[in-house]
Amino acid sequence: MALIVKKFGGTSVANIERIRNVASRVVRDYDQEHDVVVILSAMAGVTDGLIQLAHQITDTPDKRELDVLLATGEQTTAALLAMLLKSMHYPSVSLLGFQAEVHTDAAFGNARIHNIGANRVRDFLKQRHIVVVAGFQGCDAEGNITTLGRGGSDTSAVAIAAALKADVCEIFTDVDGVYTADPHICKRAQKLPRISYDEMLEMASLGAKVLQIRSVEFAKKFNVAVHVRSSFSEEEGTMVVNADADMEKMVVTGVTSNKNDARITFKQIPDQPGIAAKIMTPIGEAGIIVDMIIQNPHSGGKTDLTFTVPKVNYREAMKIAKTVGRKIGAKEVIGDENIGKVSVTGVGMRSHSGVAAKMFSALSRENINIMMITTSEIRISCVIEEKYAELAVQALHTAFGLDRDS
Ligand code: ASP
Ligand code: MG
Repeated sequence: MALIVKKFGGTSVANIERIRNVASRVVRDYDQEHDVVVILSAMAGVTDGLIQLAHQITDTPDKRELDVLLATGEQTTAALLAMLLKSMHYPSVSLLGFQAEVHTDAAFGNARIHNIGANRVRDFLKQRHIVVVAGFQGCDAEGNITTLGRGGSDTSAVAIAAALKADVCEIFTDVDGVYTADPHICKRAQKLPRISYDEMLEMASLGAKVLQIRSVEFAKKFNVAVHVRSSFSEEEGTMVVNADADMEKMVVTGVTSNKNDARITFKQIPDQPGIAAKIMTPIGEAGIIVDMIIQNPHSGGKTDLTFTVPKVNYREAMKIAKTVGRKIGAKEVIGDENIGKVSVTGVGMRSHSGVAAKMFSALSRENINIMMITTSEIRISCVIEEKYAELAVQALHTAFGLDRDS
């Protein structure tokens, strides 16, 4: 007998018929003598709808009250599922975040979990109940309702699985697993049977929107085996686990792209100590996160400096950059919003050489110019022209032998 945590996302509970589907999957495990804890999201679109309602009142809704409002989405689905299970004569109970003792900080709208008591969850499991917990929500030290950021019920599920030392945390979603590339971009992408936490973290932040990043950090920290799978099929999905020797054999696990960044270039600034700090300090103080940075020295004591910022912060960053540029005597400050970032990720890079060469060759064969490069231990990313992002993903997918039937 195992202890199984099953999390169902918004599309999996979008209407009563789908909630019935969830119930039938849940009771199947229960009937096989497993202990089952279910974590639910709100019905698809409900959280967005609640946010819109709040914005009909004011552009800047009070954050505490907004969390009270948003938490109702998950309260609804949890109650409906427990009600349904009871009507099917299964012992069940719904618990809200505070009742499951999901203790968080007080950062309304984006709270972090401190610890989870889960005493009532354990008690009900002992009494052979199916415990349904509302995802996405917790409470702070004062007992205020908090929410965990968009997509936060993934994190609820993994954190509760960690607290209960569950055997597995199954994340049911509308995709059937994690792929070597976005199947919409790359027709020959394949589903990965397994992926390491570190690869998933890199790929999640690069645009593979399968799991909330925080949930993967949690899973890694507490070594929770996460199974990402579809609620509409019986097929096995992708296991997110610790890296092992087998995974190291594969050089590249996934190819990702995104168009979320823009770049800013300072032309011909003095190549002197302190100049880079003068540029980055006001950007950082504005809360803008800089990703890639490169510097190209000229002769004559001048250099160019280029960095990327999120597109959403581009205007603000440009304004700051122009002001700084005047102060430090830049020849000009130019910006470019039409960039894309393409990345290859794999724990195998730790032990294989020539990955960068292979990546650059594949891009050059397609005549794609590389503007910037960054690397981590298990990832290489290149900034290219936005319009080539899809082509680059396809070319790299083929070059690293990831195409289905190859
Ligand atoms: N309902 C919340 C959202 O839409 C949390 C979740 O679904 O994970 O972001
Ligand atoms: Mg989700």
